[in-house]
Amino acid sequence: MPLQIVHHPDYDAGFAVNHRFPMSKYPLLMQALHIRGLIHAGALWMPEPAPASWLKLAHAADYVDQVITCSVPEKIEREIGFPVGLRVSLRAQLAAGGTVLAARLALINGIACNSAGGSHHARRAQGAGFCTFNDVAVASLVLLAEDAVKNILIVDLDVHQGDGTADRDEPRAFTFSMHGGRNYPVRKIASDLDVALPDGTGDGAYLERLGVLLPELSAKAHWDIVFYNAGVDVHAEDRLGRLSLSDDGVRARDAMVIGHFRALGIPVCGVIGGGYSTDVAALAARHAILFEVASDFA
Ligand SMILES: [Zn+2]
Repeated sequence: MPLQIVHHPDYDAGFAVNHRFPMSKYPLLMQALHIRGLIHAGALWMPEPAPASWLKLAHAADYVDQVITCSVPEKIEREIGFPVGLRVSLRAQLAAGGTVLAARLALINGIACNSAGGSHHARRAQGAGFCTFNDVAVASLVLLAEDAVKNILIVDLDVHQGDGTADRDEPRAFTFSMHGGRNYPVRKIASDLDVALPDGTGDGAYLERLGVLLPELSAKAHWDIVFYNAGVDVHAEDRLGRLSLSDDGVRARDAMVIGHFRALGIPVCGVIGGGYSTDVAALAARHAILFEVASDFA
């Protein structure tokens, strides 16, 4: 079966090419997926913007209203890293809607991926670190509210710690973050399980550690779905990462995570997470690895 992929052209909010956040990676990722033959008409889905009622499950109501009406205070915009105008606001609503849709598709098909998402620094009260709404938190709380699932595991392998996702008091969602210990955010909000890696950790040590952790995670509960944040800022050439994974290391990581949970019959919803490079084509190719690997399990 083709991999179910969720995408919206407005994931790209059209920033200047030299902006610190490489917004053009979204259309370039879709190009990369086309070239690799991973896009199939019947398996490509376009999300609706997440309604405020979903967003307010994961975020303070006043902050949700501020984003929707483009009236986020400047102090918070500075923490996010860009002003929240119409296109950024729409993009954040679409990315959250996209992860909800991808999660539903994963429950039906076993695996599905959003071509955005993984905005894990958005805390309950506000956004931060290039993250406006926390799409995985929104999707988790929507599925729980609908009783579609009972236990959720969030596997966050973006190189930055998943502080925003951890900033929620939800015992039915277990948050696991493995990240560069010396990287952003400085003040980390504890996940249910945090593993901090030293600068320069490469393929071998990274994969060995992950291989020990995955069976421990799957033994903790009967998980109804796994959200997998496959941030590629673990890559050696990433501008903001401090780890030293290669392309092959990223591919092995994704195969290890997806393979582990699919072998147990647990649905996996993949989101792309972070990735920063001035060579945006190379960056898009790195994000495409998640989709290549996920396709092998679709
Ligand atoms: Zn990151």
